[in-house]
This record gives sequence, C-alpha cells and structure tokens, in this order.
Amino acid sequence: MRPDILFPLFADITSLKGVGPRMGPLYKRLCGPHVVDMLWHLPTGLIDRRYSPQLKYADNDRVATLTLKIAEHAPPRRPSLPYRIIGYDDTDQVTITYFNVKGDYLGKMYPTDRPVVVSGLLERYQGGWRMSHPDYVLPPERAAEIPPLEPIYPLTAGLTGKFVRKTVQTALAKLPDLPEWHDPHLLHREKWPDLKTALTSVHENPLSDTGEENAARRRLAYDELLADQLALAVIRRHHRAAGGHSLAGDGALQKQLDESLPFALTPGQRVAIAEISADMAAPKRMLRLLQGDVGSGKTIVALFAMLQAVEAGKQAALMVPTEILAKQHHAKLNQFLKPPGLEVGLVLGKSRGAGRQTTLDALADGTLKLVVGTHALFQEGVQFQNLGLAVMDEQHRFGVQQRLQLADKGSGVDILAMTATPIPRTLTLTAYGDMDVSRLADKPAGHQPIDTRLIDMVRLDEVIEGLKRQIAQGAQAYWVCPLVEESEDSDLAAATVRADMLSERLPKNPLPLVGRVREGGAPPTEAVTTVSLVHGRMNSDDKDRVMAAFAAGDIKILVATTVIEVGVDVPNASVMIIEHAERFGLAQLHQLRGRVGRGSAKSTCLLLYQGPLSIASKDRLKMMRETEDGFRIAEEDLRLRGPGELLGTRQSGLPEFRLADLLRHQDLLAMAHDDAQLILARDEDLTSERGQALRILLYLFEKDAAVRLFRSG
Ligand code: ADP
Ligand code: MG
Repeated sequence: MRPDILFPLFADITSLKGVGPRMGPLYKRLCGPHVVDMLWHLPTGLIDRRYSPQLKYADNDRVATLTLKIAEHAPPRRPSLPYRIIGYDDTDQVTITYFNVKGDYLGKMYPTDRPVVVSGLLERYQGGWRMSHPDYVLPPERAAEIPPLEPIYPLTAGLTGKFVRKTVQTALAKLPDLPEWHDPHLLHREKWPDLKTALTSVHENPLSDTGEENAARRRLAYDELLADQLALAVIRRHHRAAGGHSLAGDGALQKQLDESLPFALTPGQRVAIAEISADMAAPKRMLRLLQGDVGSGKTIVALFAMLQAVEAGKQAALMVPTEILAKQHHAKLNQFLKPPGLEVGLVLGKSRGAGRQTTLDALADGTLKLVVGTHALFQEGVQFQNLGLAVMDEQHRFGVQQRLQLADKGSGVDILAMTATPIPRTLTLTAYGDMDVSRLADKPAGHQPIDTRLIDMVRLDEVIEGLKRQIAQGAQAYWVCPLVEESEDSDLAAATVRADMLSERLPKNPLPLVGRVREGGAPPTEAVTTVSLVHGRMNSDDKDRVMAAFAAGDIKILVATTVIEVGVDVPNASVMIIEHAERFGLAQLHQLRGRVGRGSAKSTCLLLYQGPLSIASKDRLKMMRETEDGFRIAEEDLRLRGPGELLGTRQSGLPEFRLADLLRHQDLLAMAHDDAQLILARDEDLTSERGQALRILLYLFEKDAAVRLFRSG
C-alpha cells in the first residue's frame, strides 16, 4: 500500500486549486492524472523579463518590460487589421498591437491618464518599435506580479503558461518532506540537494548552468533511474525465485510446422528458436526478449516456442496490444497450424468476439492449448488449466503490472517478450536490464529493398499522379498524415481533408466509405471511393472493418492520422507515403516504412517534407534513404537529435522517463544499475531505515507492482 505520506501527491490533479473539473482534462492530457505529475512537468526554458531599457537604447527582438504612458488608441478600420495603442517613454514611442480583441476591454487595460507596465517581445517594425499582444499589462503598483525570470513550460491547447506556472507552484506546496533514500556519501560527493530543494530549483531556475542547478537536475534524474533499476531488479528476482518448470518437448510438433512452412527459416530465426528452446527446457524460469526489426519474422519464432510448450503438455498464450493485431495473428497462426492439426483460440475484451465463453471453457479445461488475445487474456475470469508460456508481442506496450498479472495465470510461467524497437547498444542495459536477449539480425529471404525518396510537398500533384499509376497496377498504399501535438482535432481535420482530396482524384469503386468524419455524424452519401481513413477516434469495430477491407485489398489507399497499428501485416501494400516526414523521429519513420516491403512487389516509401528544411533535418531524412537497418537508424537518431526525440515518443518503445535523459545521463544509468544491485544485496526486502525510504522512492515513481513483491511490509 502506498504510504500515507505520499497521499497528497497522488490526489487527483483536479484537487489542486485552480484546476477543477473544467481544466482537469487539459492538465491530464498535458502531464498526467495526479498532483505528482505536475511536479515532473519540467520547464524547457526561461524568459528573462528583467530587461527594462529605455526605448531609444533597447535591443531589437528581445523580451522587455517597459513602463509607458499611453498617447492614443487607434481602433482598426477593418476587422483584418490590428487594434493599435501608442505608448511612449521619455526617449521614444512603441506601437502595441492586438488582433481580434474588443476595444472597450483594451480601453480599460490601457488608460490614457496613468502609466502602465507591459512585458513582451519588443521588435523593430517599419522603422519604429512594436510589441504585439504583450504577455503582461499591469498598473505600476502591481508590477511585482511580473516574474523576473519566467520558466517556460510545454503547453497544450487551452492552457496558458501563466496557469501552468501557478499550478506547478500549488503542486510544489503539496510536496511533503520525504526521508532521504540516497546514501549520504553519494549526496556529498555529487553535491546533490535533497528532493524538495532539487525540485524547487529546477522549476524556478531551469536554465541556470551554475553547478548547483545542474546538480539538482542530476539528482532528480538519478531518483527516477534508481527507482526504475530497483524495480527491474526486484521483478527479475521474483521471476527467478518463483521457480520455473522444464518445458522440454519431443520436437514432433515443431518438426511438422518446420516442414510445412512455405518458406525456409532464416539463420537468425533458427538461432533464436534454439536459444528459446534451451531456456524453456531448463528448469529455471525463462525471461527472454526477442528483439527483431519490423518484418524480421518474430511471430513464427514465437509459434515454435508455443509448440514446445504444447509438446511439454502445457498451454501457451500470445498477448498483443490491439484487437486488430489479435485477429490478424489469430488468422495467421491458424493457417500455420493446419498441418500439425492444432487450433488457436482468440480472446478479446468482454462481450467481444463470437464464442468467447466456449473459448474460455476450453482454456479452463485444457482442451484448448493455444490462445491469442489482447490484455483481456490476463484479466479475471480467464483461467488456464496449465499455462506454461506467455508471449508478449510489442512488449513495450505492456507495463510491469501486466507482466506480473500474466505470470500469475500459471505457476513459474516462462515469458517471452518481443519488440521491434531497435535499441541502441548503449541503452540496452536500462531498457531491458532484467532480461536475456535474442536478436534477429537478418531479414527473411526475398525481402526487397524499399526505394525511399525525399520529396518536397510542393510536388504533391506529381506524387498523386504517380500513386494513381501504381494503384492502377494493383498496388495498395498507406498515406500517413502529420502528427501535430497541439490538437487532435486539427490532426484529424488535416487527415480528413487529405482523404477527401485523394478520393476525389482517384478512380472510384463501389465500396462504402467508412471512417470518415462528417459533421453531425451523418453517414456519407456521395460516391464511394478507393480511399479510407483510419484514426484514433474511431471505435474498434469501424477500425476493424477498415483494416479488414484494406487487408482484403478492397480499399486501395489507407489514410491514417497517427501511427498505423504496429505490427499490421498487409503484404500487398507496397507504397508508404508520409506527409511532414520532418516531424517524425527516424525510429518512427523506420517503423512506419516497415509496413511495406513485406510482399514480393517492389516497395516505395515517399517522405514528403515541408520546405525549407535545415541542413540538419535534411541530413536526418537522408539517413532513411541510406539504410534499412533499424539499429543504424536508431543510433544515428540518437546521435543527431539526442534521445529526447527518440525516447520522447511512445512509438519508440524505449522506457519513457520524465526526469532522466538517457543520453545526458548515461553515467547515472550505469550508477543506478550498480546501486540497485548493491542495495538489494544488503537489504533484499528493503526493511532497514534506508530500505523504507527507498520504498517511498519506488511508490513515488509508481513502481507499486515491484514493492508488492517484497516479503515483508
Ligand atoms: P515482425 O517481426 O515484424 O513481427 P512478422 O512475424 O509479422 O514480422 O513477419 C513478417 C512477414 O514475413 C510475415 O508475412 C511472415 O509470414 C514472413 N516471414 C517470416 N519468416 C520468414 C522467412 N524465414 N522467410 C520468408 N518470410 C518470412
Ligand atoms: Mg510482429
């Protein structure tokens, strides 16, 4: 149970003064559901408002705080023009401009009979000074409300910097004095302040590069990394201690599968199968990660492992992150399993999927040996007679919590996790510190290189003409629309516009148009086309329908708002078009591109960019042209951009840290890894005084699942 001392931090964020039910959802979207999430929402920069020059001697293009008298108000002659206010000091004058703001409101804010203090960006414009929409406008007696140094926070539509800063301050006030969990010698050596001092300092003075501030930042990063490494170590120990079973088979089913496969396994697949097989046969519990680039053929490796479990008289389950994937895997595995004469069941969420109860009964009495499903597989109500192996595909989509739930469905269940994330070698330790790793380094034979090109958005017409030709020849295409974080609505709007445009320009065919967003939700009535849109707001049935139609070849062009479901396998799709490619991380582009090049046709990937691009951005995109090696791309991405970019996105598959930056804090990561080992070697259940403090650290970073594994409270 979470200790009482942390309760204020895990209260709902709406409990903070000034947040409430209206702003709540915005804050949740911005940083998370709890008060503590506000603390972890660190500023990315600092505005210095201390600069208050006389106008005549002011610097151009710099934030300034000015005390002005107001000479006159000039309302706009046309609505498209700005409202102008002329202010002056002893040396010069400045035009303050506002678009779309009511005059009477401005009249009150800028009285002509007394001075005002304004703070904002001061610019040279048409030979004079201009300040557009100042950030602060106050009477002189309230000038102290203007922060001299103002932290800049990442924002989301509907929240202003001022609001967020206030809320952070309110959240900081809730931070209790927590016992110190770090070794005093470490704190002394690194000159790290205590948690409260560190947090206050990074929020109030984020960019100062004096040694002191740097220490605050590093301490917080270390807190997070240590919590993470400690939790991983605890879970690993738990898995090992639970004792495994030897799952050795006679190889009969595996042999049948091998002989009936329509292709030859790659050498990499054979090695991985052998490594997994040896792990399973050994009496200890398996905890292995299978790492292989998109399209490297991980599923079939998993199937071999699952058959070994069946040979050993046990059941095996494959858990995937989405329903679409579950259905796809289910169909595919059943196809592979015809020769050995086995069947795979499918379990989706409650009330989903036909014959659910029959499947559940068969799992419980052991007549069904193999099953594919979403996380629903590991919820209550699903019982296995004798689960021996659990496989998790796209493992980064599942948390530690789910891993544990899953393991609890049997005793000493072997675990195989799979990921397409090409983790740079330097980071393997953190990401999967608790697992053994198998790697698929080669692509299946017959894989055709993907022709990747960079194309300026101005050539959109040519791109569409080319696409028309390819579709006429029977190809299918993905069209990925830009990902703008500001607003989901505008993303969707952009994708809808694109889908409409494409369906106008491409030949029609007699299919219903699904997934389009229409005002009022009325079903579209106009001529039907070959283009469909799939997006995150669609319900899962509609999504399934579109995906199934695309897989069946009925839909030719699939326009997607964000990322197309990881792992989707449509071999006939041979064209991938990504709009605003410059906004994606390389690793993400690589994952997207991996959706094509799966069939026998030659595949193309067009990276459309909005020019002009900086040389650095162009170099980054060129990297995509040079290689299809996910590892090289990941390492290049890390080198060119720093891990923020690579690690910041969900799709990257690496653990997400709020405070630590894996590139900048690599040394801390190694330290945390060793520290965690040492801590557990001395005090394996964290019962000492320091151990108790470390438990608080674990709860603070929401590693509750790990704390529950300690033998005593
Ligand atoms: P991923 O590793 O991305 O999950 P999949 O397991 O979906 O990849 O495999 C991608 C495609 O390659 C599938 O259609 C699969 O049947 C096929 N495949 C797997 N192994 C081989 C092989 N050795 N030779 C040819 N095709 C293969
Ligand atoms: Mg896969």
